[in-house]
Amino acid sequence: MDHASSTLTTSSRTAFERPTDEKVNWVSSLPFLAFHVVAVVGTIVFGITPIALAMFVVMVWGRIWFITAGYHRYFAHRSYRTNRAFQLFLAVGGVMCVQKGPLWWAGHHREHHRNSDTEGDVHSPLKGFWWSHVGWILCDKFAEPPLERIKDFAKYPELRFVEKWNGTFAWLTAVLCFLIGGWSGLFFGFFMSTVVLWHNTFLVNSFAHVFGRRRYVTDDTSRNNFLIALTTLGEGWHNNHHYYQASARNGFFWWEIDLTYQTLRVLSWFNIVRDLKVPSAEMLASNRIADGNLDVGMARAERVRAEAASVKA
Ligand SMILES: [Zn+2]
Ligand SMILES: [Zn+2]
Repeated sequence: MDHASSTLTTSSRTAFERPTDEKVNWVSSLPFLAFHVVAVVGTIVFGITPIALAMFVVMVWGRIWFITAGYHRYFAHRSYRTNRAFQLFLAVGGVMCVQKGPLWWAGHHREHHRNSDTEGDVHSPLKGFWWSHVGWILCDKFAEPPLERIKDFAKYPELRFVEKWNGTFAWLTAVLCFLIGGWSGLFFGFFMSTVVLWHNTFLVNSFAHVFGRRRYVTDDTSRNNFLIALTTLGEGWHNNHHYYQASARNGFFWWEIDLTYQTLRVLSWFNIVRDLKVPSAEMLASNRIADGNLDVGMARAERVRAEAASVKA
């Protein structure tokens, strides 16, 4: 497991110089930054009531399900099929997460898989750890949905409507939280839960490409990370995922907890979702780094880093 356990240090991972159009726009990012301040100050001032605490749990882990099962495994990867009404339900649940619309999210995510850990990757940690975590979201270049990458869903008028009005849906969610839990429900139940939900989601783009183990040969730096799998309902099995992107199941073995897949299985019993793609036994057993296969992703990452260092020297 030598290769699987090898870890580049964070500081050594900035291999790519970002092009000049890939930088944070601090002015347009002010609402995003202010959102964090409002969450902290509001929670301190109004405290945490029992109802707000319950809302917080539901708003972090209930909502992230719409990101993992909806935005990611359905819209970005089409790892299962469903009917048009449930597709719309997934989209509306997704926009309540305040991570823009399904076309924006899934389109950019497809771009990540097309160009993983190359200059074309929107959020490779090889462009900088914080860039991969949050910087790319605050950059004008990626502000619009890449519709050419997501034509298969952009053709639905109801999805374009949800996409267009995603901000309104997000604020309606805030109003709902206020009506249920008062000021504490608003600041802790909505603002703070949204901040935690954001960074919980972003961990997959940053930490799960830096910390963890690599089981399969992939031409990127993706890793399996148990802790992130727990906090993100199964998305931490990110090396598995990059190995077989179309799978509805990211935890490939029984000990790899993947609550998103388990809930999709339950929904499939009622025929709400169907045709869940899962890896074959042969696929699970092949291309293991531990079997002596060259770790292509790490070899490439090391090479790119060395080249960047020699240019600087
Ligand atoms: Zn990735
Ligand atoms: Zn993916």
